[in-house]
Amino acid sequence: MFWDKRFETMDRQELRRHQLEHLNITLKEAAKSPRYGQLLKERGVSELKSLDEIQRLPFTGKQDLRDHFPYGFLSVPLDKVVRMHSSSGTTGNPTVVFHTKGDLDNWAGLVARNMYMSGLRPGDVFQNIMGYGLFTGGLGFHYGSEKLGAMTIPAGAGNSKRQLWFMRQFKTTAAHILPSYALKLSTYLAEEGLDPRKDLHLKYFYIGAEPHTEAMRQEIERIYGVKAFNSYGLSEMCGPGVAFECLEQNGMHLWEDHYLMEIIDPKTGELLPDGQEGELVLTSLRREAMPLLRYRTRDLTSILAGDCPCGRTHRRIARFKGRSDDMLIINGVNIFPMQIEATILAMPEVGNHYVIEVLKENFLDRIHLKIEVREAAFSGTLPALESLKERIAAALNTELGVHVKVHLVEPGTLPTAEGKAVRVFDKRNQQ
Ligand code: ADP
Ligand code: ZN
Repeated sequence: MFWDKRFETMDRQELRRHQLEHLNITLKEAAKSPRYGQLLKERGVSELKSLDEIQRLPFTGKQDLRDHFPYGFLSVPLDKVVRMHSSSGTTGNPTVVFHTKGDLDNWAGLVARNMYMSGLRPGDVFQNIMGYGLFTGGLGFHYGSEKLGAMTIPAGAGNSKRQLWFMRQFKTTAAHILPSYALKLSTYLAEEGLDPRKDLHLKYFYIGAEPHTEAMRQEIERIYGVKAFNSYGLSEMCGPGVAFECLEQNGMHLWEDHYLMEIIDPKTGELLPDGQEGELVLTSLRREAMPLLRYRTRDLTSILAGDCPCGRTHRRIARFKGRSDDMLIINGVNIFPMQIEATILAMPEVGNHYVIEVLKENFLDRIHLKIEVREAAFSGTLPALESLKERIAAALNTELGVHVKVHLVEPGTLPTAEGKAVRVFDKRNQQ
């Protein structure tokens, strides 16, 4: 059941004591980096008496990492560093993160904990369909799966034909895959006349690295006949392994023995009570090369109430709504792309691929939504397509409170990305 029972089921009080102890160790180590050395001296903080005192520490943002590139946050001498990684650069220049041997070992342990929790065991065959290289999704899961003892296929991203070949030859039982790529691969499998539920041996999918809705997860589970577990992480906190779903699939346990979490109001920076949605802020408790204090992830979530029936004591966070910078302001109304995804995936005639374009028309903002419809619906009559379009627009109007111009396109015609999906094109500034 448990990879690491002592830590996974640690009594909350003991967990908090462990957190305070490691927070103070982290503070001492962080102070050895040029940037934190200066910041902590300015604030006169060297030790905290309780976890609540964390508010005395400054926030750290992505921009700080860029401003002090490359070594401003490095807390150990270079001869202790064995690896660097970098974030994907979804929202600007990449930032670099350094690791000691101890960091890599802890990280692999966390990923193994997650995979074990889902049911993966030695004897399973794990295909890692993620980019290997600076992106942490590849190597992060690779070492986790090896640590657990599963046969690991470092398949890398893309190339559906080769992915299928591995899956068939080695009877792959588990895969780490981007939700957007899982859908793309399913189109290829259908073209090959295969039914993944019958023709493959898949049991577990680990999906993450990009926002996706519950409807998207269910669609992936339906197509492949797997359990698809939501997996969250970010390069600044090692990578995947920060939070993960257990078998209950009801929120992700955020591993509080390694990361201290706060949820704040992204505008004011004020701490929000449990249950309220806000920006996730993380402090690493076990990182050596580059500990980060109160790192603003910009990812929006909330802490779920109540204990999890699985017996793990680490609090759960809700599925991410997206990043605070994903929010579109349409004529004053705040909209998240995930709201659009949730609405359209609820309609059976609609396919899985969509693109959102925002334009200025007559000085007003206007969303154009291009959606691939399913083969059966597309070959329907014109009035049927018109009525589908109207129904989608009406459903979106109810959900979002704005009018969306819907365009139905043929299956397989929208562009797909090799890495994380890019679905929103805000062209208002280019007009
Ligand atoms: P980048 O910030 O350049 O994308 P990373 O590769 O470090 O760099 O990606 C981390 C980010 O990916 C997270 O901050 C979050 O926005 C997104 N992400 C990761 N896992 C998930 C998930 N399960 N659900 C939603 N978003 C996720
Ligand atoms: Zn649980």
